[in-house]
Formats: sequence, structure tokens, C-alpha cells
Amino acid sequence: MSFERKKILVLGAGYAGLSTVTRLQKVLSFQDADITLINKNEYHYEATWLHQVAAGTIHWEEAAYPITSVINTQKVRFVPAEVTAIHRDEQRVETNQGEFEYDILVVALGFESETFGIEGMDQYAETITNSETAVAARQEIERNFANYKTSNDPRDISILVGGAGFTGVEFLGELTESIPALANQYNINYEDVKITCVEAAPSMLPMFSDELTQYAVDYLESKGIEFKIGTPIVAANENGFVVKVNDEETQLEANSVIWTAGVRGNSLMEESFEGAKRGRVVTKPDLTIEGYDNVFVIGDVAAVMNGEGEDARPWPTTAQIAMQMGDHAAKNIKDKINGERMAGFSFDDKGTVCSLGSDEGIGVVFGREVKGRRAAFLKRVVDTRAVFKIGGPFLAYSKGKFL
Ligand code: FAD
Ligand code: NAD
Repeated sequence: MSFERKKILVLGAGYAGLSTVTRLQKVLSFQDADITLINKNEYHYEATWLHQVAAGTIHWEEAAYPITSVINTQKVRFVPAEVTAIHRDEQRVETNQGEFEYDILVVALGFESETFGIEGMDQYAETITNSETAVAARQEIERNFANYKTSNDPRDISILVGGAGFTGVEFLGELTESIPALANQYNINYEDVKITCVEAAPSMLPMFSDELTQYAVDYLESKGIEFKIGTPIVAANENGFVVKVNDEETQLEANSVIWTAGVRGNSLMEESFEGAKRGRVVTKPDLTIEGYDNVFVIGDVAAVMNGEGEDARPWPTTAQIAMQMGDHAAKNIKDKINGERMAGFSFDDKGTVCSLGSDEGIGVVFGREVKGRRAAFLKRVVDTRAVFKIGGPFLAYSKGKFL
């Protein structure tokens, strides 16, 4: 055991960063380490609930809690600040609240929207990336519905969703619940509302069987959603999306335009780590990076390979894996401080559930396919478990999805 009190700095209080810190505070004593957590906001938001915030089925505060409510302030110092640069060779981090030095660094700065350089997307489309953007998406839809009374412009009650990945599909599921209520509030006939999802690939949700995917499509179509599959979006403008099929460009019109067609790691990663691609850095199996065995990179900013050799691919970026990485990084930090060998990370995939609103869903859990209410129930279990794992029973009671 080393008698030097190590300075551990954790950047980001999402699933990865909070999992690291809440475990470190259990396994390390005050004498072992001086732990500092830095995060942009004073609160943690449940990124996996943001589609609900964006659709308006929950208020953003329901999906957030103060970071200090889950950390042991006797052992961990929390600093609300924005990280602006990471200097690995000098072992220091710059923020808008000053500089911080470290012996051990954990980078867990999370995801951003990826627009793939599509013209106009940054300017004209809303995204579902953090609590502010999710609230902005909801406000945009609400503003346009309110405007319809005077404008009578069908574009005010038309919503375009770009991408039918998990985020897009879960968002559509929530819209089927919130938009009828919003239409009712503004005396708009729901039949007149147009919600269209535009997907580039020839099929959607390829990780599920055709039967499960068809179940989701049938359900959403029965609620009035229109899908345009095999239809790449090539631009966004003040009228909506421009799509291109068979070399022909078509304008799809709507005043509420939400881009859910991809994510990337935090752009700060490219600025601070050479070789970072789309905001992700390849890690070694122990979650540190080449040449720096005191720098852990975890969560959506990490590209952790699922094996070795040419066929190895990075694990998908999910909250499930981000939390497991956080736990693993904390164990390795403890071992490192104790002079023990750090272990390689392995992902324990418990499955995936895609919600379609509060009462429907599809998924594969422990290798078994589920759909309908059972899937929706399991999604609530997954969401509540995430809160429980970080904040324990009290947080699960106050924030979980069963009360
Ligand atoms: P994040 O959750 O992005 O956290 C990063 C933290 O860092 C944030 O608190 C942020 O404020 C902070 N931060 C960022 N930049 C700075 C800075 N410069 N300075 C200081 N702090 C900063 N995954 C699943 O496994 N299951 C799901 O059901 C699921 N549903 C999802 C639903 C939606 C709508 C979306 C968008 C994603 C979903 N995901 C799901 C994916 C999951 O949310 C991400 O993989 C997960 O959030 C990654 O966790 P993280 O801790 O790496 O990053
Ligand atoms: P994604 O990359 O998984 O899906 C994006 C979709 O947009 C794809 O279907 C893609 O073909 C489509 N697309 C890309 N470019 C397009 C274009 N120009 N025009 C039209 N369509 C286009 O992104 P996501 O859904 O935001 O998911 C991000 C990560 O978060 C993934 O790892 C996912 O597994 C995870 N996630 C998980 C859940 C869950 O487990 N329930 C929910 C949301 C997100």
C-alpha cells in the first residue's frame, strides 16, 4: 500500500463518471486518495430518458438529480466547471474555473450529436443530446403547435424525425403519447398532425429480428407515424429536411425538425488526444490508454474493442456499458494504488430494450426476445436499476419508474 495520497480527477458525471466515483468512495479511504469530480452542471441527467423530455412525457427535472446527493462529500470534492483542455504530459486539466492537477485521471465526458457534416443540420434541427437540447426540442414543437392557431400552416403541426435508430424510435413512441394531448390542448385535430420518421438504411433496428422490428413499425404506424425508409437526409433548411433517393432530391416540409441520426464522443477528445476519431479514443483492455497508464477513458468517449485482431470492433456506446466501465475503472484504480496488477475489462451484456412509449416496447433480455407490455415493464426495471446502482435505494425510490 502506498502512503502517498493520490490525486484522482474524474471528468464528467454521466453514467461512466458517476459509476466510477460512487464506487471509488466505497473502496478507497480518505487517506488513500484525494478525489475530485468535475462536471458542467450541478446535476446529473439520465441521458437514457432524454427522449421522454424531448417529447414532453416527463419534465426535465424528473430525469435529473443533484450530483451532491450521490457523492460522499467527506471523500469526494465536487466542482461544477466546464473542462476546456486536458494536458496528459503535464498531468493537468484546464476548466473555466481554473486548473486541476492529477496523479490519476478518468475521462468520462460523454456524447454529442453527430451530424456527419450534413449541410444546415446544426442550424435548423434540434437534437436529443443533453437536458438543454431535449427541452429545446420540446419547446420547439410546443411553440409551433401554439402558432398553428394563427398561421393555419400545416408545417406548424408537422414533425420530422431524422433517423430510426434507438433514439429516434423511442422518441417516436413518446410522441404517440404526448402529441395527442398537445393537439387537444390547442384544439387541433390529431388526424391533421403529421409525424414522419426518415431513415437512410433499407431497414431499421438491425440488431433485432425482423419480427420484433416489424412489431415496432406496426405499432408506431397504428398510432399515425409515417416511415420513409431507405431515404437518406442530405440537408436541413428552414423548411425541413432535403432527402435524396435515386439521385432525386425532395424537400420534406415541417417546422419541428429533430435529428436523432447519430452520436459521437465529446469533441474535446480530438483536441486533447491525438488519434481520437469521432470523439472516441481506443483504450487498452484495462481502460487506460497507450503510453499513459494513469489515464482512464470510459463511457461514450472510449472505443473499447470487443476482442483482438482484425475482426475486433468497438463495443456500442450505451449507458449499460458506460456504467460497467465506471465500475471497472474504479476497481483498477484501487489495484493501481495498492500496487496490484490491473485487470482487463469484459462487457456483461444483459440485453437491450427499446421502448415504444410507456406501455409498449421490444427487446432482447438475457438472450430472450420480449415485446409489448412485458418489454415496457423491463424497460422500467432497467431505468430504475441504473438509478439504484448509482444512488442506492433512496434515489431509486424518489427517481425510479415504479412510483
Ligand atoms: P454522458 O451520459 O453523456 O455524460 C457525460 C457527462 O459529462 C454529462 O454530465 C455532461 O454534462 C458532462 N460533460 C460533457 N462535457 C463536459 C465538459 N466539457 N466539462 C464538464 N463536464 C462535461 N443506453 C443504454 O444502455 N440504454 C438505453 O436505454 C439508452 N437510451 C438512450 C436514450 C437516448 C434518448 C439517448 C440519447 C441515449 C441512450 N442511451 C442508452 C445511450 C446512453 O445514454 C449513453 O451511452 C450514455 O449516456 C453514455 O454515458 P457517459 O457517462 O459516457 O456520458
Ligand atoms: P444510431 O447511430 O444507433 O442510429 C442512427 C440512425 O440514423 C441509424 O438507423 C442510421 O441509419 C440513421 N441515419 C444516419 N444518417 C442518416 C441520414 N443522413 N439520413 C437518415 N437516416 C440516417 O444512434 P442513436 O439511436 O442515437 O443511438 C446512439 C447510441 O445510444 C447507440 O449505441 C444506441 O445503442 C444507444 N441507445 C440505446 C437505447 C436503448 O438501449 N434503448 C436508446 C437510445 C440510444
